[in-house]
Amino acid sequence: MIPIAKPLIGDEEKQAVLEVLDSGMLAQGPRVKAFEEAFAEMCDTRYAIATANGTTALHVALLAHEIGPGDEVITTPFTFIASANSILYTGATPVFVDIDPVTYNIDPDLIEAAITPKTKAIMPIHLFGLCADMGALNRIAEKHGLAIIEDACQSHGATYKGTHSGAFGTGTFSLYPTKNITSAEGGMITTSDPVIAERCQLIRSHGSKRRYYYDGIGFNFRMTDVHAAIGLTQLQKLARYNEMRIANARYLSAHLQGVTTPAAPEGYGHIFHQYTIRVGDGKRDALCEHLKANGVGYGIYYPVPIHKQTYYTRDLGFDLTLPESERAAEEVVSLPVHPALSQDDLDTIVRVVNTFMGA
Ligand SMILES: *Cc1c(COP(=O)(O)O)cnc(C)c1O
Repeated sequence: MIPIAKPLIGDEEKQAVLEVLDSGMLAQGPRVKAFEEAFAEMCDTRYAIATANGTTALHVALLAHEIGPGDEVITTPFTFIASANSILYTGATPVFVDIDPVTYNIDPDLIEAAITPKTKAIMPIHLFGLCADMGALNRIAEKHGLAIIEDACQSHGATYKGTHSGAFGTGTFSLYPTKNITSAEGGMITTSDPVIAERCQLIRSHGSKRRYYYDGIGFNFRMTDVHAAIGLTQLQKLARYNEMRIANARYLSAHLQGVTTPAAPEGYGHIFHQYTIRVGDGKRDALCEHLKANGVGYGIYYPVPIHKQTYYTRDLGFDLTLPESERAAEEVVSLPVHPALSQDDLDTIVRVVNTFMGA
């Protein structure tokens, strides 16, 4: 089976972990600081704040922007559950806007109709490694005085007109094993705003500036030095890994037939966290069976948009129709694109898909 994702852990990562274990500094220590500095440099931001995972990064970023009960945050439902759940954790309400069917990202033309006096922020998700239309989003955010909190959990190193994801507002990243780089579990917040950066540092660690003195309430959302050591090593490989993903995606797009391949719009640096094709006419599920029977791993991201998840409909009373998100949920399938694929793997993927599509 060609797996849909494969974390690449080498001797460098193992060595880095052993050094931490030998050092005696296990919790948030010098490796976390070094990882934060290197991550900020990668994104071109002044600050990066490490957290325990991507979900806590989102949660802390929202709290740092003082988002809470009574506030609304505009986002999309075609994403991982953590995007919207993090808004719920603060007591605020996610306001779901539909996606552009070509990019799977928030459709900027639908945002202004969703803005109310309660709207505090827009949370674009740079889904599958492709930045949202940040030019349009920045204009809307500026006009209405809204914060931008990017869910960049799938877009390490992605760019929009030369600017890195995570540098448009407050960025949040995940370092889960299936992401383009990993620290096993881990998260990162990026910002160039010193006030937001300081608030994030406080919220991450019980609201304490000085040990055992607490000015506000926070959490224990810290990263360990063991995880930071893995992440720092992986970060040095990110550019190379992304190039390999891009090359794999280019090969697949050049050879797949009968399916809609991912858009790579001009001016966007897509880093292909996922290589997601669209298969219409109700054929998606049969294609998946065929992939499985022929040893090609796949993933459906995402089979149910968040506004249709049981907790959101039954408990929160969401009753929305967002046609493009719902159609995408029925038609998308992601194929392996990760750096561990061989040329043989790529040719197998192409052959298996094209055979099914009758090409
Ligand atoms: C992975 C992911 C998250 C959450 O990250 P964790 O590290 O798993 O908590 C949030 N949003 C999106 C879009 C993701 O892909």
